[in-house]
Amino acid sequence: MKTILQIAFPSALPQCFDYLSSSHIVAEGSRVQVPFKQSTRTGIVISKTQTSKVPPERLKSIERVTDTEPILQPDLLSLLKWVSAYYHYPIGGVLKAALPRLVRRGHPLPAPLIDVWQACGREEQISLRAKKQYALFKRLKKLGSASASLLDIEFPNWRQAMKSLEHKGLVRCQVAIHAPQSTATVAARGHRLNADQQRADAAIASTIHQFSCSLLEGVTGSGKTEVYLSLCEKIIATHAQALVLVPEIALALQTVECFKERFGHRVQIFHSEQKDTDRLQTWVNALSGESDVIIGTRSAVFLPFRKLGIIVVDEEHDSSYKQEDYLRYHARDVSIMRAKIENLPVVLGSATPSLETLRNAASGRYAHFRLPLRIAQAEPARMQIVDLRAKPLQAGLSQLLIDKIDEHIGRGEQVLLFINRRGYAPVTICHHCGATVNCPRCDANMVYHQSNAKLNCHHCAKTMPLPKNCASCGADSLSPLGIGTEQIEEKLRTLFPDAHVLRIDRDIMKHRGMLEKRLALVRSGEADIIVGTQMLAKGHHVPSITLVGIVNIDQGLYSADFRSVERLAQLVVQVSGRAGRGEVAGHIILQTHHPQHPYLHTLLRHGYPVLAKELLQQRKTTGLPPYTHFALIRAQARELGVAMNFLSQVEKKARQLVQHHSVQVHAPMPAAMEKKADYYRASLLLDAHEAAPLHHCLNQLVPTIQALPQTRSLRWQLDIDPLEID
Ligand code: ADP
Ligand code: ZN
Repeated sequence: MKTILQIAFPSALPQCFDYLSSSHIVAEGSRVQVPFKQSTRTGIVISKTQTSKVPPERLKSIERVTDTEPILQPDLLSLLKWVSAYYHYPIGGVLKAALPRLVRRGHPLPAPLIDVWQACGREEQISLRAKKQYALFKRLKKLGSASASLLDIEFPNWRQAMKSLEHKGLVRCQVAIHAPQSTATVAARGHRLNADQQRADAAIASTIHQFSCSLLEGVTGSGKTEVYLSLCEKIIATHAQALVLVPEIALALQTVECFKERFGHRVQIFHSEQKDTDRLQTWVNALSGESDVIIGTRSAVFLPFRKLGIIVVDEEHDSSYKQEDYLRYHARDVSIMRAKIENLPVVLGSATPSLETLRNAASGRYAHFRLPLRIAQAEPARMQIVDLRAKPLQAGLSQLLIDKIDEHIGRGEQVLLFINRRGYAPVTICHHCGATVNCPRCDANMVYHQSNAKLNCHHCAKTMPLPKNCASCGADSLSPLGIGTEQIEEKLRTLFPDAHVLRIDRDIMKHRGMLEKRLALVRSGEADIIVGTQMLAKGHHVPSITLVGIVNIDQGLYSADFRSVERLAQLVVQVSGRAGRGEVAGHIILQTHHPQHPYLHTLLRHGYPVLAKELLQQRKTTGLPPYTHFALIRAQARELGVAMNFLSQVEKKARQLVQHHSVQVHAPMPAAMEKKADYYRASLLLDAHEAAPLHHCLNQLVPTIQALPQTRSLRWQLDIDPLEID
């Protein structure tokens, strides 16, 4: 009997295609070249069967098997199938998200690479007193070349000596094709863990080779990374590999340095802004086992590993883990499933865990470890509230905050001012008639940016010159309203002309390398005052900031989004975490018009865990996630009626499918921002107490939607566990 291969193309094509294997022996998870229409395409074997709906005479045979081994191990393939089923997304689309471009295109896999040192000078050039350098050099000469893992075994702490030799031009480091994995031992020693760290470390380490999910809760500087390092060390000792996920590229760069210091060159990075060839190389090194640790952003959760031993998800609450287009997966949730399938521990780290994770920890589904103390600090940071009501402000800054800034920079310390709005002013208003300048393509204000001297829309790419006159009344009295990062930056420059003021927000990301450059200025202490958005709130190490000013948080207290208070609280704690990492205690100033707001009160008086508990209780009584499972169907069309009509059809179909009220089907709603980039947006929410009936319903609903004639005239997406329901 002939074997039929079900093959998916890593592309937008929804279905699998059947092919004959002819004489090839092909394993599931292999790349194959197959004839498709007039050309040859690269596909992945998803499964094998004996039957096909296609009549046998029309089945084509594959042309060849691309690689000698399958590129997807059975466990990883199972994970991708689970992702496809859970997010109701075609397997081909999942492969597209999961595989680097060159792998998808059938590019041959390069050999795995690793750093190797070679001697290239004469030993007489080394001073006899430099004993270690001398010994290392002689050994290298004898061996011809040596890799880090070999040197680790033979010469503890060889790196310093090697650096000196490299400096003198007596050795050179080359990237080479390396044979099988040798014993990797640790390059640098870690700190002795404190009691809290030890408890977490020992408990998690005892679950190596089996599934466990642990929450490691601790503020910035409490030693979470040190625990990750210790766990990774144990994993590497068993010849397995570690995956460390971080929410942002800038954090990946910082984290990889820290891990390299400890484990040497078998630590690699994986993120979306790497060159295709670099991504492919890291991917191959993971697959071949030539890397011990990979630090990566979201999509690294899909990397192939020869033998994965642990997954760490740092800053697990961060919404960057959710991909917000095409395949809308959550990398934390996929990590947990991966750990389950591959029987390994997963560690979720955060100072401010998501309510989802806290609920699972409270119910005992996850282990919960706390690191309550900052390592290098006697005193905790001090928080002070400034009641903004009726106070005179300069670019949103109260006199008290300005005085404090003066005091701190006067002592040579650094100050961070946090505001969640980029640009100069969020609104441009006509002082004569009150009209605002809106984006012609979106239901949104245009934001004035001084950097390009234009009005910019934050929701689409639209920019326009600042008009001289108001479009409504013709008066020439347009003026900025509200405060953004640029305005604070400008004000600080006039208030503190001698200080080095630096702005860090998403606008500087337009220039390649600018973020890194500015972060370096922060770290080196050259920048005195840093004005930043939430980009800076994320675990960046900025050791000498002693004052953090939160310019305004009031928006978050009154947003319609049910997650806004959770986000706000996380932000306040994360931003505050930037203060006083060194020996100097930090000072935090929080400006608000609502000092008595109950959430704020709870957060500041009792801390994030207590507020989180309160919020969870509320979510429970109001039937919101994590107590309810959400699925959101979004539609975008050139006319609102088209989108709403389509969703009404979907609503009707959904109601027919639902049995016993196990799933609630809500009425379609236009989005709060109805028009975005010239498309009208609306959504339909389904929710259920249990995940199973919801997914059961969606299994039938999705094909029904695909068959609706309207789908040809609009765009629609399904979002499982949406972070926003707008
Ligand atoms: P987090 O990841 O929670 O922000 P880190 O693990 O980076 O915290 O630790 C903060 C600082 O404390 C780092 O400089 C780290 O080297 C140091 N550190 C961590 N654990 C210990 C320990 N047990 N003893 C001494 N120093 C430690
Ligand atoms: Zn716009």
